[in-house]
Amino acid sequence: MESETLFVEEAEPPGRMTDSVGLKQHSNFEGPSPHPFFTPAAIPAGPLPRQSALRDSRARAFRKRFFPNVTHKEWNDWRWQLRNRICDLATLGRMIRLSEDERHAMGAGGSLPLAITPHYMSLIDPWNPSQALRRTVVPSVHECFRSVGETDDPLHEDEDSPVPGIVHRYPDRVLFLVTGICSTYCRYCTRSRMVGHPNHHGVNTEPWEKGIAYIAAHPEIRDVLLSGGDPLTLADEPLEWLISSLRRIPHVEMIRIGTKAPVVLPQRITPSLVRMLKRYHPLWMSVHAAHPDELTEETRKACMRLADAGIPLGSQTVLLSGINDDVETMKRLVHGLLMIRVKPYYLYQCDPIPGSSHFRTPVSRGLEIIRGLRGFTTGYAVPTYVIDAPGGGGKIPLLPEYCIGRENGELLLRNYEGKVFRYPDGPPQEGVIH
Ligand code: SF4
Repeated sequence: MESETLFVEEAEPPGRMTDSVGLKQHSNFEGPSPHPFFTPAAIPAGPLPRQSALRDSRARAFRKRFFPNVTHKEWNDWRWQLRNRICDLATLGRMIRLSEDERHAMGAGGSLPLAITPHYMSLIDPWNPSQALRRTVVPSVHECFRSVGETDDPLHEDEDSPVPGIVHRYPDRVLFLVTGICSTYCRYCTRSRMVGHPNHHGVNTEPWEKGIAYIAAHPEIRDVLLSGGDPLTLADEPLEWLISSLRRIPHVEMIRIGTKAPVVLPQRITPSLVRMLKRYHPLWMSVHAAHPDELTEETRKACMRLADAGIPLGSQTVLLSGINDDVETMKRLVHGLLMIRVKPYYLYQCDPIPGSSHFRTPVSRGLEIIRGLRGFTTGYAVPTYVIDAPGGGGKIPLLPEYCIGRENGELLLRNYEGKVFRYPDGPPQEGVIH
């Protein structure tokens, strides 16, 4: 019989945590020590296998330290993960050594709540506030400052919302915001105005019915993207209610789900969820991934399970300063995604929500990254870099300058190596046949 749990783990042999990566445990830490992890200085520079070994060791040590009596069955139960999210300063401060900045940010109580699943928390470096994964989920004081151009709803989604929960911007498709809950809150979330807030919580069929009625009344809508919040924080039954209701609408050709669950809550991808989803094809999924260190064995198994069920997977990544805004990190991410059968789909310029200036990069950085990928690696690995235009203009693709002009009816094109080539792009002219 198929197991409902995703991950059956082997018992950890004594000493494996250090032996596999050649690292020493921090054995004599005193004071408000969170736990006996490694000092940042002990982290070896090196190829990916070493980095993932370090990450896995850290995750095992975290579990031993903070959830010693939790069984594998409990740990691998997504509801247990949700129930045991880290949501307050005291708990967070026990698990990682908070910097002054982080402590102040927690005290300031910004609008976006804190929640981190134990799974994701186990990947966080307790010593290093600059660690990429840590910065994406642990608040910073920068969140408290609104810079010029930042607004609560930069994409004007509320203006394009004919009924609560529906954003109808493009001609043939809608965004359907079905919940305000996420298992883990990203500090750069475009919808920070609504996620985690009490009036956008959980299962509420009344707005869902209105949204479904709107879609049914608009035959031009052929594509519905379920998002939020994270739709995969819903249990199978309400989720199936939503999806099956949409499937009954004849003009809805495809359904998509936008989620970060395979990354922050991979336990959610159970056999029963996947069995349910595959009844409603064509169903696609966009997986939110920010950094290659998120691509754990659990995430790999979750994506494999979805892909095996015939669900095409694409990724959505927000370009984030100091987190993934260099070619090498992005290359590791897109290669890692392809290896777990996720096509890198969109790379987003970070939206100007309040308190996001520390995350935003110049657009030239994004273009540099695309230039560093295109031609240098598999075409499938290259996402489309877009700005979701503030003011509701929709996604606008950005490309480095490959087309550099025209001369004598020919197009001048620059290739990935910087060499210039010509393409005959004038009106057809009769030539001499040899
Ligand atoms: S998972 Fe998506 S909706 Fe939830 S906080 Fe992160 S970016 Fe926002």
